[in-house]
Amino acid sequence: MEPEMQAVRERLRAIRQNIERACASAGRDPGEVTLMAVTKTVDPLLINTAVDEGVTVLGENRVQEFLSKRAEYRPQAQVQFIGHLQTNKVRQIIDKVTMIQSVDSLHLAAAIDKAAAQHDLIMPVLLEVNIGGEASKSGVSPAELPALLEEAGKLTHIAVRGLMTIPPPQPDPVKQTEVFAQMAALYRQMQQIAPLEVLSMGMSGDYEAAAAQGATLVRIGSALFGPRIYPQVR
Ligand SMILES: *Cc1c(COP(=O)(O)O)cnc(C)c1O
Repeated sequence: MEPEMQAVRERLRAIRQNIERACASAGRDPGEVTLMAVTKTVDPLLINTAVDEGVTVLGENRVQEFLSKRAEYRPQAQVQFIGHLQTNKVRQIIDKVTMIQSVDSLHLAAAIDKAAAQHDLIMPVLLEVNIGGEASKSGVSPAELPALLEEAGKLTHIAVRGLMTIPPPQPDPVKQTEVFAQMAALYRQMQQIAPLEVLSMGMSGDYEAAAAQGATLVRIGSALFGPRIYPQVR
């Protein structure tokens, strides 16, 4: 495993340099951008390699995979949930994550609120926005966002901290930048309504553009850990 671990260290160095360069080009402080390591399909040894190099936040997509791997993670790693979450699985993760980024309905917000109340905690959450307007993607439309923000804001055991988005892959760099700029504008607009501090956007293929446009958290999987190899289903 040592060559793979070394590869993670080298990719991490390159990603950090790219974020610094993107921030410099936009006059931003790179310290404002948290690098999240997205762990799906990745061996805990490699995840811990990233944590040992100073990555503090891990992103999990799947409840079962997370539950089966978490005992092996370094205790200092904070885990945030970023995948589609069914309301009936909320209770399995509520006391094991520090944020849930993928809240796309009041129904889910209420389920998180209820589970958090049972554990006597307040769960930080992000509202997921479908900025690309794709029918296949989860997230609320920009038009639906103010109402969700207001209603979720009334729940006492969640704290809405910001917005998250997964824009469609965009090969045209100009259009890619436009989408992130649009999302950043929406974020600033929502900051007039609620005290938001997290804008989660940008993945392996587009994190530099996202950082330049104002992301405070980028979610990086394959650029850090290499291509994902999904187990064969027989
Ligand atoms: C898998 C995943 C990522 C990371 O994807 P890469 O392209 O491998 O960086 C980021 N965000 C979410 C929600 C994901 O599911």
